[in-house]
Amino acid sequence: MSANDSFRSFNPAPIVPVERKPARKADFKEQAARGVAVALNEIWGPYNRTAFGILMYHRVIDPIPGQPQPTWNVSPAQFEEQLSGLLKRGFDPWPLQRVLEHHEKGWTIPRRVFVVTFDDGYQNNFTRALPILQKLRVPATIFLATRYLDSNEPFPSDDWLASGTAGVSPEAWQPLTTDECHQLLQSGLIELGAHTHSHDDYRGKPDYLRTDLQQCCAVLRDKFNIERPTFAFPYGTKRNGFAGADLVEAARHSDLRCSLTTEAELVTTTTDPFDWGRLVAEDIDTSTTLAAKLGGWISIAKKLKHFLMRQKR
Ligand SMILES: [Zn+2]
Repeated sequence: MSANDSFRSFNPAPIVPVERKPARKADFKEQAARGVAVALNEIWGPYNRTAFGILMYHRVIDPIPGQPQPTWNVSPAQFEEQLSGLLKRGFDPWPLQRVLEHHEKGWTIPRRVFVVTFDDGYQNNFTRALPILQKLRVPATIFLATRYLDSNEPFPSDDWLASGTAGVSPEAWQPLTTDECHQLLQSGLIELGAHTHSHDDYRGKPDYLRTDLQQCCAVLRDKFNIERPTFAFPYGTKRNGFAGADLVEAARHSDLRCSLTTEAELVTTTTDPFDWGRLVAEDIDTSTTLAAKLGGWISIAKKLKHFLMRQKR
């Protein structure tokens, strides 16, 4: 019996209420839409000149031969190409707290600003992502599901079938340790934020979310001296209710600075930071396609594709 079999026997029903997100290839239509978006971004620059983008990452590891493609993953080489390419294009990475401070003071944010975030708190954020962030001097926020700090089992929400199995380095799936978090903070580049304590399904349970957030905030305060952390919803979509209005209100009445969704949209400082979306940075993204996402053109191209498909019917 593998470590994973053992783990799953104790946890027979991992919570995976969203579709799997393996490394994937863009189909022809998506490639065409991305091509158009990239071209428009190169020619005209950003579509929306007052908005900025918050990028969302999870795992940063190399695919493991003989194993299924890791879900929610960007390889270290791709991660470095994405960020270094954005820097070369003049994009300016800011800490999330700095963006929020500008929002609270009503200051404008330069158009080329972007923010890097990671969800859950995988050990590879420390072992793989941090050295690249340090090399490029890019700040980032890691949203921790605090219940799993120091755990040597996979996150219950981890949908990658190889997590916890023999022959797969724990670095690929293990949660961060408290000591690693201290080292991340000492780097001066990393902020830790809240991602709930249990990373559960809180739909329709705003009181449960508030209680769970209190536990998460207590861990962040007791272990890392963090007051009023930033926050990102687990699973995070609005249409499926993971960042529904009831849960946004629960977050607003917890001691948090913001609540970020996973809606793929740019944000502005005049909008509500308890309703800011984020753009997924995928393994198929290059710095060129990420620049087009941050320029607002990928979402325009997607809307255009859907419009043209409707016209054909
Ligand atoms: Zn998560």
